[in-house]
Amino acid sequence: MSRIRLQGLTRRFGQVTAVDDVWLDVADGEFLVLLGPSGCGKSTLLRMIAGLLEPSGGRVLLDDADITHAPPQRRNLAMVFQGYALYPHLSVARNIGFPLRARRLPKAVVRAKVAEVAAMVELTGLLDRRPRELSGGQRQRVALARALVRDPGAFLMDEPLSNLDAKLRATTRAEIAALHRRLGATVVYVTHDQVEAMTMATRIVLLNEGRVEQTGTPAEVYDEPASVFVARFLGSPPMNLLDATLHAAGSDLVARAPDVEVALGLDGAGLPDRAVTLGVRPEHLGFAPRGNAPFRAEVMSVENLGGEEVAHCRVGSAQVSVRGARPLGVAPGDRVGLSARPGHLHLFDAGSGRRLV
Ligand code: ATP
Repeated sequence: MSRIRLQGLTRRFGQVTAVDDVWLDVADGEFLVLLGPSGCGKSTLLRMIAGLLEPSGGRVLLDDADITHAPPQRRNLAMVFQGYALYPHLSVARNIGFPLRARRLPKAVVRAKVAEVAAMVELTGLLDRRPRELSGGQRQRVALARALVRDPGAFLMDEPLSNLDAKLRATTRAEIAALHRRLGATVVYVTHDQVEAMTMATRIVLLNEGRVEQTGTPAEVYDEPASVFVARFLGSPPMNLLDATLHAAGSDLVARAPDVEVALGLDGAGLPDRAVTLGVRPEHLGFAPRGNAPFRAEVMSVENLGGEEVAHCRVGSAQVSVRGARPLGVAPGDRVGLSARPGHLHLFDAGSGRRLV
């Protein structure tokens, strides 16, 4: 498979800079997920790699060859879109074989290759059907097979699961991840769905307003978000974030906010007081005797998620959620203490939103 390098890739639409100076190396065999909210530039970036959109600046390299201005059909990349774009009047077999017939390969070769990829995505019994006679998930697999049949250097996928219902999305997600492991394929995959990103990616690139906000493995971006933006984007419910101030207290550093006094276990001697955003994930908070608990809270509501519960609490004027195994053992109106699991507090600069610790 191939590796892809983006060097200062930029795309402007009039006044809008959709992709802003993106530098990125996609290694051979990597499953790279471009993740971010609507409008952050994911599709624009992918379309420039595919050759469907001309960059305003920067370069795209495929295995060291500069393909920035090469037409899409010369790039040896296969694209899978959310709409599948199947030919309705052609059978499944002819849809899958289309890229090979376009290359004028002998019929016997096309037939053998179609049979091979159809088996890979479990479509063997459906080769004579038309797309309208298939379920959404099966159509999605045909689109995948049509990409696979070309033996491309890399796969580019733009929200390929977004037309599927939740259950089918979960199974297809697992199928794509398994297929990736089996083939060792290089994949660049666009989504705004954090679960897709966390479960399939070998590396996640979080985009914010056209810029790379953070790159890392799923565990790295979840456990050590580089900014408030990343911390808010990943996790459900999202990370609790409180405006606080840092003070040196003896040899320790303390974060204070209304109803909050948290010792951080960090040496802050000599540090001037400063404004910070204190972050802690809902699953890292637990209930504690109120006495001198680091957070003093009032339970507002409790949500039952089946195996778990989420308690929505008020701490000072902030909202804080606590997630844990059901039952949490608290009820609305309870006045409780909260403590954070050691090593799971995050500190961000209040001004820039960048991670401090
Ligand atoms: P979504 O998840 O909603 O698909 P995205 O992250 O893929 O969003 P893009 O489609 O890449 O975002 O768009 C990035 C920015 O560029 C947006 O502000 C969008 O309005 C703008 N944009 C994209 N295509 C065009 C276009 N053809 N003309 C003008 N502006 C565009």
